Amino acid sequence: MPVNAARSTTRRTGTLIEDQQGELTDKALEIHRRLCRQYECPIPYFHSLDPLSELVSSLLSHRTRNGESGRAFKALRARWPDWQSVAEADVSEIETAIRGVTWPELKAPRIQAVLQAVAARYGALTLDFLAQMSVDAARTWLEAIPGIGPKTSAAVLSFSTLRMPALPVDSHHHRVAQRTGLIGAKVDVGPSHPILRAQLPEDWSAQALYDNHEVLMLHGQQVCHHRAPACSRCVLLDLCPTGQARPPRAAQRAAASLP
Ligand code: SF4
Repeated sequence: MPVNAARSTTRRTGTLIEDQQGELTDKALEIHRRLCRQYECPIPYFHSLDPLSELVSSLLSHRTRNGESGRAFKALRARWPDWQSVAEADVSEIETAIRGVTWPELKAPRIQAVLQAVAARYGALTLDFLAQMSVDAARTWLEAIPGIGPKTSAAVLSFSTLRMPALPVDSHHHRVAQRTGLIGAKVDVGPSHPILRAQLPEDWSAQALYDNHEVLMLHGQQVCHHRAPACSRCVLLDLCPTGQARPPRAAQRAAASLP
């Protein structure tokens, strides 16, 4: 292919990608606007934990109902006076204290290892110093510790008293993003974090990003169910290729089966 033709093709391809990204950004903002109206943004923060406590809470919550992970967190707090004591405790005692969560036998040693890694890397058992870092630097610092992934690092920054502008993506949030076409069908939860964050304005506040996460999560829990999404009563139906592809009777049956 002649050089000029190749350059022109590259330019056209670049423009096409930019157009597609622009469309996704517009869609992400429209989804945010509609869901914020439905779930009444701003959403109150559900935690006011220091970042180290939020880290433990987040590790407990993986694939576990909120009630159970909350009970396990309180059990750790009641049994030991501080996180240093948890880091030094007999791991079987931690496992017993958190037995209501999913995979306590894996989470107990992981929590202990993560606490020990924080102390070893920073020289003290605290994460308060993350407040002095940029979001990207703080997330990189956290994710260098085995057992901390993108969801946990974003949760620590967003949900804790740090109140930093980071976007966590949980399984409900991820499902809605996938079904509405914000991310591809094969994009897993971890890799979806930077993609979904890039679709929202760079200068959004911590509250705005928190709201985005919360409203997509709430929509996944209350409407866009895992097995039977209630598409016929979904405010995103006209934006959603998955909802539009569903046979109307299936969508009606799903809606009728809801309480
Ligand atoms: S239209 Fe259906 S699949 Fe799409 S977001 Fe709404 S409930 Fe989910």
